[in-house]
Amino acid sequence: MRTIRSRHRVSALAGVATALLALSACGQEGSPETAGGGTESSGGSSAAPTYAVASDVAITGSPTYDKITSAGKVVIGVKADQPGIGQKDPGSGEYAGFDIEMAKLMAAKLGLTPDQIEFVETVSANREPFLQQGTVDMVIASYTINDKRKEVVDFAGPYYVAGQDLLVRADDDSITGPDALAGKKVCSVEGSTPATRIRDEHPDATLVTFDAYSKCVQQLTSNAVDAVTTDDAILRGYAAQQPDALKVVGEPFSEEPYGIGLPKGDTVLRNTLNDAIEAAVSDGDWKKAYDFTLGGSGTDPEPPAVDRY
Ligand code: GLU
Repeated sequence: MRTIRSRHRVSALAGVATALLALSACGQEGSPETAGGGTESSGGSSAAPTYAVASDVAITGSPTYDKITSAGKVVIGVKADQPGIGQKDPGSGEYAGFDIEMAKLMAAKLGLTPDQIEFVETVSANREPFLQQGTVDMVIASYTINDKRKEVVDFAGPYYVAGQDLLVRADDDSITGPDALAGKKVCSVEGSTPATRIRDEHPDATLVTFDAYSKCVQQLTSNAVDAVTTDDAILRGYAAQQPDALKVVGEPFSEEPYGIGLPKGDTVLRNTLNDAIEAAVSDGDWKKAYDFTLGGSGTDPEPPAVDRY
């Protein structure tokens, strides 16, 4: 793994030491043979993966990392209602999903243990404002990298590529793709790329928007709308919760490269996280994270190459 040099150290060394002890005790980390060995099976039934916490982290010239260091924690904006991606358990308050694993993975590469992550719920429309206002240090929330967003925030990644798709009622065979949406009510989320694409490219559809996709799913099951549109990875999570009632059409019609949103101009942190994503792909941690969360949905994608723009 690449060593990041220089002067700052994350302060909570006791926490790091405890985590390292715990990691070696359960024998999942620190051994080159187990890292990336491909022995974990897919699905969510196996034990949660753990990631080796870097002990020699030092980064110079990143205002965000300086803030993280002095706070002793990283504040990460994530989704709370997207199964498989970012979902908050209403009972325990714990978050789970691929984005949550990516958050733990990025934190580990910055020398932070999972208990040094503060998750803050974000919806699609407040991701840029949260980064601009410093409410969060980063956003890992099914967040498509695009040029418009790059005007106000920066992105590390992509760490995954999704595609826009449609969720419909299981007994509906009339909606086969976006061209069949004319005259139909389609639900999506304000501030998202899928909502923009329906507005721009499928104006014959009637777009209904909410702030979160789970509300769209309720609209679909109560027959108030005919379809929900967003990324296939998100829609598969909802379909899996109600397989008798819902299905994904399965004809993706866009590319949605997921990035880690960062405050604009923090090039040092962007480079650091790009290095961390590359390291996670080559040491097997990316696959562990994927298999534990989205892997059960029958897909086995190649991780994308990071874009060092
Ligand atoms: N990836 C798309 C976006 O960033 C849709 C998913 C979402 O809204 O979180 O807009």
